[in-house]
Amino acid sequence: MAVIPAVVPVSGCGRKGPACFVVEAGNSRLMLDLGYGPQPGLWPDVSGVGHIDALLLSHGHADHAGGLKLLPEIGNPPVYATEIVARSLPSHVALRPLPLSGSTDVLGVRVTTGRSGHAPGGVWLHLALGDGLLYMGDNSSESALYARDAPPPAGTLILDASYGDYDIPLAQCQEALAEFFAVPGGLLLPVPENGRGPEIALHLLRNGHLLPRIDERMRKALQRLATSDAACLHPGVAPELARIADGALASGEPAGITLASRADGTSGDAAELLARWESGETPAIVFTGYLPPDTPAERLTRSGRARYLRWNVHPRLSDNVALVKSVGAHTILPAFGDAKHLAAWQRAFAPAQVVTTGRVEL
Ligand SMILES: [Zn+2]
Repeated sequence: MAVIPAVVPVSGCGRKGPACFVVEAGNSRLMLDLGYGPQPGLWPDVSGVGHIDALLLSHGHADHAGGLKLLPEIGNPPVYATEIVARSLPSHVALRPLPLSGSTDVLGVRVTTGRSGHAPGGVWLHLALGDGLLYMGDNSSESALYARDAPPPAGTLILDASYGDYDIPLAQCQEALAEFFAVPGGLLLPVPENGRGPEIALHLLRNGHLLPRIDERMRKALQRLATSDAACLHPGVAPELARIADGALASGEPAGITLASRADGTSGDAAELLARWESGETPAIVFTGYLPPDTPAERLTRSGRARYLRWNVHPRLSDNVALVKSVGAHTILPAFGDAKHLAAWQRAFAPAQVVTTGRVEL
């Protein structure tokens, strides 16, 4: 009897946590992402997963690709990633290529990929199993920087529900943040250099602000995006990023707007600058992404020293509703968001069925 293909969420469904899904594909067992975090110390539990034949990565962020030290526990499978993502992976990993946009064969399974509008080299993955499995990883259709390709039809859809039932457009977020752009005493924005950091820099350039001060990680990320990683950008953006990389002053002075990594303030230039400036009243500090527990981002926003203003890098509820319709999915696994939004997801995605746990046949 033919085995019915299925997907099993290991981690990342029902709460914000490291991404990890197992796909039972008949003759092979595939894994989609193997993340770590975003909360310090949070690993997916792969103890019951068994042997995996191939790991496919959606993008290089730690909560999707930071769990590779667990590879020996699942049989050391080869790792499929786009060339841009592969560059940042540890050298001991057995790498296989994924196209940024196109189709390939992974152990007899047809895998189609497209750019996900979220991070350098990031893709969604469509597996031709059953009536189609589409894994969106993290994605956004609002980025002025990262391009997003339209995914093909799929019966089962693992979508990026990071933002729950949130539905505010990025343009509105930008307006709120703009109030801080000219404050006396300067502004520090801790950001991921391979995510919204370059997006915010591009926004400043395009809106006639002084170039931001940037740390070395941001400068290198901008240089990579402008050259070797330009294939993941919207047309025409690369020269603008090169201008920022060439012209931006180095971080370190509390004047103007500073973009420094890491986003949660746990390490890097952001950690150093926060340690130096948090006890004063200036510069203003604004966090714009997820605030993991037990990090400076969470501590400083809770104490009131820093503000939190979201800069969208994940889809809003209405983006996900449009996606469900466009791919014609009948079964939805909402990933990376809190299950407290389940009723809102069920209402929004009906008549598709919403599932957060267990084995889902394709
Ligand atoms: Zn991400």
